[in-house]
Amino acid sequence: MKLHEFQAKRIFAQYNVPIPQGEVASTATQAREIAQKLGKPVVIKSQVLVGGRGKAGGIKVARTPDEAEALADQILGMNIKGMTVKRVLVDEASQIENEIYLGMVIDRERRRVVMMASSEGGVDIEEVAATNPDAIKTVIIDPALGMRSYQAIGLASAIGLPQELFRPFTQIALGLYQAFLGSDAELAEINPLIVDGKGALLAVDGKMVVDDNALFRHAKLEEMRDLDEESQAETEARLNGLSYVDLDGEIGCMVNGAGLAMATMDIVKHFGGEPANFLDIGGGARADKVAAALRIILADPNVKAVLFNIFGGITRCDEVARGILEALAQVPTNVPMVARLVGTNEEEGRAILAEANMPTAQTLAEAAQKAVAAARGEL
Ligand code: GDP
Ligand code: MN
Repeated sequence: MKLHEFQAKRIFAQYNVPIPQGEVASTATQAREIAQKLGKPVVIKSQVLVGGRGKAGGIKVARTPDEAEALADQILGMNIKGMTVKRVLVDEASQIENEIYLGMVIDRERRRVVMMASSEGGVDIEEVAATNPDAIKTVIIDPALGMRSYQAIGLASAIGLPQELFRPFTQIALGLYQAFLGSDAELAEINPLIVDGKGALLAVDGKMVVDDNALFRHAKLEEMRDLDEESQAETEARLNGLSYVDLDGEIGCMVNGAGLAMATMDIVKHFGGEPANFLDIGGGARADKVAAALRIILADPNVKAVLFNIFGGITRCDEVARGILEALAQVPTNVPMVARLVGTNEEEGRAILAEANMPTAQTLAEAAQKAVAAARGEL
């Protein structure tokens, strides 16, 4: 789950990372009031979950409360890379002498957290990585030791910071690491970390992605979720406890079990089709969950056929069959479907589907071939 800039920066601030003073507004009048309260020039920053807001015109400096109101009015409602701006952050404006990049991610190959810093801040770090990779310096953090001060000092030195900034840089780097750990983050980034007019370091932008699988132990982070970030299908899947990933193909797949879902996608591809999604209804799914899953699949306009692959263990095939019929009663459709149900109560399940004239298959290969043919209109 991605956090907004203002959310990420507030978390960073809890770990002693200096951030500009500021507040969030959802109306231009509020933006004006915040600017008035701060009593100095401000930056009006669109809060949308995409990068490159600056280039897209979503970040503007205002010298007076009047100007803050006018600019907030301009930015609120703006469409940035497909996201509508509903809130702006009104931060005290900073004088920027230098822009640095500081970020950390999990390096899956090394199985370590890696901190990266660059003197080429302010721009897309992906761009720096592509055009000038030597400008990105990294340190690998040992999970048992945690991040050490000398590693931060090494980074500060490697990116050419003046010595008087080593200490504040170290405080920020260690703080960012603690914020990363404390939030079960996958990514935490300050871009830019600036040297301001007084020669001090300040985090003017913040980005954080937290691990969805750890949200159960971070109620406060879960509350920060912006539903605009996910599609309607993703929201419905999450609320129904379904693992769902939208893909580009035309064969909707409903499967119980992640491994089986992967195998099903492979088989679909093997027979010349493309899966429209990954969807794991999990073990023991009841009819209502199955119905929700089918509604999600059918809502995808690219879906030309649906393949059910159910291996009944804890999951009962008759229960799944009832769920399919329940969904079809709610969402009538002409999309062809084929089901392969094996295991617990498979006869009952097949009998229920037969009554509804839904084709079934004995094997996964047969089911996948039928689904591929159906998607091509050959069945
Ligand atoms: P992003 O474009 O979404 O990454 O948003 P950022 O918060 O990083 O802002 C983009 C750019 O706007 C920064 O790199 C700065 O150059 C500029 N900017 C942001 N805040 C301020 C500020 O307070 N004062 C000035 N002068 N420029 C700012
Ligand atoms: Mn930025």
